Amino acid sequence: MAQHQFQTEVSRLLHLIIHSLYSNREIFLRELVSNASDALDKLKYLTVADEGYKSIIFEPRIDLSFNRDAKTLTVEDNGIGMNEADLIESLGTIARSGTRLFLEKLQDDVKRDSNLIGQFGVGFYSAFMAADKIEVISRKAGEGETWKWVSDGKENFEIEAAGPGEALKDSQGSRVILHLTDEGLEYANRWSIEDIIKRYSNHVAFPIYLTYDEKEYDDKGKEKGSVTKTDRINSGTALWRRAKSELKEEDYHEFYKQLGHDTDEPLHYIHTKAEGTLEYSTLFYIPKKAPFDMYNVDYKPGVKLYVKRVFITDDDKELIPTWLRFVRGIIDSEDLPLNVSREILQQNKILINIKNASVKKLLAEFKTLADTAASGSDAAKEKWETFISQYNRPLKEGLYQDFANRELIQELIRFKSSTQEGRTGFSEYAARMKSDQKYIYYITGGDEKTLRASPLLEAYTAKGIEVLIMDDEIDDIVIPSLGRYQKQSGDTSQEWELKAINRSGADEELGDKPDKTAEKEIQPVIEKIKKALGDRVKEVKLSRRLQDSPSCIVADANDPSIQMAQLLKAMGQTEVPDTKPILEVNGEHPLVAGLKHTEDEERIADVAGVLLDQALLVEGLKLKDPADFVKRLNRLLAP
Ligand code: ADP
Ligand code: MG
Repeated sequence: MAQHQFQTEVSRLLHLIIHSLYSNREIFLRELVSNASDALDKLKYLTVADEGYKSIIFEPRIDLSFNRDAKTLTVEDNGIGMNEADLIESLGTIARSGTRLFLEKLQDDVKRDSNLIGQFGVGFYSAFMAADKIEVISRKAGEGETWKWVSDGKENFEIEAAGPGEALKDSQGSRVILHLTDEGLEYANRWSIEDIIKRYSNHVAFPIYLTYDEKEYDDKGKEKGSVTKTDRINSGTALWRRAKSELKEEDYHEFYKQLGHDTDEPLHYIHTKAEGTLEYSTLFYIPKKAPFDMYNVDYKPGVKLYVKRVFITDDDKELIPTWLRFVRGIIDSEDLPLNVSREILQQNKILINIKNASVKKLLAEFKTLADTAASGSDAAKEKWETFISQYNRPLKEGLYQDFANRELIQELIRFKSSTQEGRTGFSEYAARMKSDQKYIYYITGGDEKTLRASPLLEAYTAKGIEVLIMDDEIDDIVIPSLGRYQKQSGDTSQEWELKAINRSGADEELGDKPDKTAEKEIQPVIEKIKKALGDRVKEVKLSRRLQDSPSCIVADANDPSIQMAQLLKAMGQTEVPDTKPILEVNGEHPLVAGLKHTEDEERIADVAGVLLDQALLVEGLKLKDPADFVKRLNRLLAP
């Protein structure tokens, strides 16, 4: 017998599982069944694609049983199985990177929701929510030895050769025996098991059987013993291959729960059957809540590939574009060869075609969600709101990752607005535009409140011009690269340039004629401020966009915005050029106009410094020398 220590992360995870996961405990059964189903999928693939396995007699099945007296619950499959090394690797470590993030997430999760476990791919360990000891007896297909893994879910696990009394039903497979805790005992009865399987695993594509004892009674109603029965408890067909007309919403929802490792229903599903040059079925789901690892580079892909119902892979990020990584589902092709190499899948023409068609289908469906919400019921509105609140950001990534679909994606993304409540899109903005308005205006920056209070907005608000408030980090990268919005309606197409209002020159488009005399009069003041600020600014200009505020800063038309530069630095980029702001001043503000009549250099320097620093502050930026600002401000305030 060999003792092994769990990898540190596993110990931490197990500790969390045992001590702090409360809700949805029953999902452990879904996870064990899902592992059994994966193991069957893997062997099924080998028996059709690999000569070495073709002779195996394989009737895939999953068997559940329980014993209330012994307090055990058993899940057995005749799938691929594990040898000693597999047991150590699979049930002793967490191979995925990003584990730390996951553990933190689990720790912070107020609901202590066990659901995350399956999403992250550490479902096996969830069995310790119901058991204080687990045995796994396993034999790998084609190998001679049967192994036993045992653990109490604390620090260690043991592995030894299985005893003669522990033989598996078939020549390969795994038996997982849970020694239930007192709370876990509630799952050791026929009704709970059937109920959980119906809820989460009804559509697992292999038969699931439950073995149980049933008491027998004589004709006087007296107990006379019991018989052991075995019933199939799932409906188990490849749901995605069935006709839509045969399926009910419930069927789709049930199937999703196993597939998406979710306890909640999906927000939306899209089932497609293509018959033509290419023959395939796809079934896609949009979860109500974004997968927790959506912003993790090591996210777990959500789409599985099947060929003629045989599972090929669930770990290929290329099956769906990264910007659609929140989609869960299945692609099943009739045309791919079964022994398609997983390595070269990406270059496979058939798969590329299916993928492109799937993206188009999904985008069309999203558009329908948006359109239905615009004219439809409260439920439709709520559905769209949920969708966009979860997935706006990945869709924006699509804008610069997927040129071919730009026009479709730009109709979906949403922004806040200076004149509207909630979120709005380009097309709605365009419909509200003033007849003489040439551009779609937007302002980007770190947070909504600061942006709404920005002096840069004043003139637009005064003129009743709508400005899109872009407070999502990604907007700063995506929107400038988009450049313009093109609206296609029928054969006609209209186009508007997108203009950032925190750019130098944006104010000139507001259409006001500059007052030449006023400009001339204020010129000496501009010169004084410029001299006082020296190389802290790129330029000082008279502003046409300020109403109440004395000053504001803008970026030069080709520089990255100042917010962007600070963000890049904060993200550890060292090559960010030191962009200097352009300071715009309001000639009518007393603080500025007051400088006309003074030659006191200290006072000019104080006013100039305060004009610049307050403009930086109001944009939510950090001052390089806050003490200097405070000193100057105090001098100005003193009578
Ligand atoms: P995931 O299923 O997402 O990989 P799990 O924690 O559920 O994560 O399982 C870990 C690994 O243990 C699986 O990837 C698989 O290699 C192995 N495993 C678990 N159960 C079985 C089983 N019944 N048969 C074969 N391998 C299994
Ligand atoms: Mg699993």
